[in-house]
Amino acid sequence: MPSEKFKKIWENQKGKCPFCDQPMDISADAEERHLHHINGDHKDNKISNLVYAHVHCHKQYHANYPKSKRIITVI
Ligand SMILES: [Zn+2]
Ligand SMILES: [Zn+2]
Repeated sequence: MPSEKFKKIWENQKGKCPFCDQPMDISADAEERHLHHINGDHKDNKISNLVYAHVHCHKQYHANYPKSKRIITVI
């Protein structure tokens, strides 16, 4: 990272966290980011299944929906 894959994912989500809809800082010294698997399958590493999220938002999501396969649409 940053790689072509990173850029594509980033474009897909328009630079926003999918959970809180706030812009994310991707500069090198920004806070750590998590990569979320939209369909819940951690072996599925297709670009369309990946989205970056704030660490705190991501943790909260999985605390609330530990087994969720809910699709998060990132536009
Ligand atoms: Zn967030
Ligand atoms: Zn996740």
